[in-house]
Amino acid sequence: MYDYVIVGAGFFGSVFARRMTDAGAKCLVIEKRGHIAGNCYTDDVGGIHVHQYGPHIFHTNDEGVWNFVNQFARFSRFSYRPKVNFRGRMLSFPINLTTLHQLWGVKTPQEAERRLEAERVPIENPANLEEWVLSQVGQEIYETFVYGYTKKQWGRDPKELPSSIIRRLPIRLTWNDDYFNDRFCGIPEGGYTQLFQKLLKGIAVETNVDFLGDQSHFESISDRIVYTGPLDRLFQYQLGANDWRGLRFEQQVIQSPDYQGIAAINYTDAETPYTRCVEHKHFDPVRSDHTVITHEYPADWKVGDEMYYPVNNEQGEALQQRYAAMLPDNYLIGGRLATYRYYDMHQVIASAMHLADKEMQRRSGRILQLAPHPLETRR
Ligand code: UDP
Repeated sequence: MYDYVIVGAGFFGSVFARRMTDAGAKCLVIEKRGHIAGNCYTDDVGGIHVHQYGPHIFHTNDEGVWNFVNQFARFSRFSYRPKVNFRGRMLSFPINLTTLHQLWGVKTPQEAERRLEAERVPIENPANLEEWVLSQVGQEIYETFVYGYTKKQWGRDPKELPSSIIRRLPIRLTWNDDYFNDRFCGIPEGGYTQLFQKLLKGIAVETNVDFLGDQSHFESISDRIVYTGPLDRLFQYQLGANDWRGLRFEQQVIQSPDYQGIAAINYTDAETPYTRCVEHKHFDPVRSDHTVITHEYPADWKVGDEMYYPVNNEQGEALQQRYAAMLPDNYLIGGRLATYRYYDMHQVIASAMHLADKEMQRRSGRILQLAPHPLETRR
């Protein structure tokens, strides 16, 4: 008998399994795919660690999370500084003084602020992504960096999208072109898969096992189920399927030591069918005569495809809530798929650590003092 059968070997399931195993619980991790590490999975292609489900750059402000992951890998000092290619013109991104210098020739924060002030479109209460960007930086920046990329990525006009999607990107009037503001940032040397192997060391893990193929068996051998897959699938889509944006990756091995000189270039015009080109060796540098690149094509999603970006419109939120209300008492959920939230890795890890703390308290019979983690479904 297990204390927990954990469904899914991504960050949520693996971190929870590690914490609970270390606290003396008996855990079994089952994973539908043939590999661990969820969408963080990296593959070794001739010594280059390829991010098979899109680039994952680890960043966090949470020292507890940073210390936790550093037990399982050494992190490089990588920081994400992608470039933008807009109709053949190379530009600095996210928006910073270099970008504004390239666009308008401004050289100081004061000059940049004056120019931006003239560019901003006065919109008192921006109601969508387009209006928000126009009110912050004006038409030219919107068209150069945001309109095409966002339309391709989400398959809809930015007027139909909430501004929350883009608010995470900084707009800086300094020369700092770092994508993230966090205190800690890096890439696990040797790839994410190795990190997960260490994270799951000594824990029973079965890959190629679909929980739904034998749900009653797994329920009968464990006290609690920690489910990290999508809830609509758990309930056989009986209320309908939640919508996601999909991605298609086109990977190429190129016989050249360096293809584009940087980890990622975003193609922000609406005509180029892909959103970005990623060159994996720049995440975790190795010397080699070859390089691996991936073009990322946004795609419509249908049931059965890999899930990438949740389409968090009102309808999707309501459906998610209805499924969450159907969960049996012995089920715990977490992670991006089960919560239908586009979380970063560090947020998922923090919420798994928090749930594990709560479970430890419950098991030791102490009064529950921990409030629910904001990323956890309150049950
Ligand atoms: N975005 C954009 N231009 C870019 C990069 C991002 O307009 O060159 C917008 C786009 O709407 C995207 C959002 O910013 O959905 C968030 O981008 P982020 O890089 O955080 O997305 P991710 O890396 O998770 O795909």
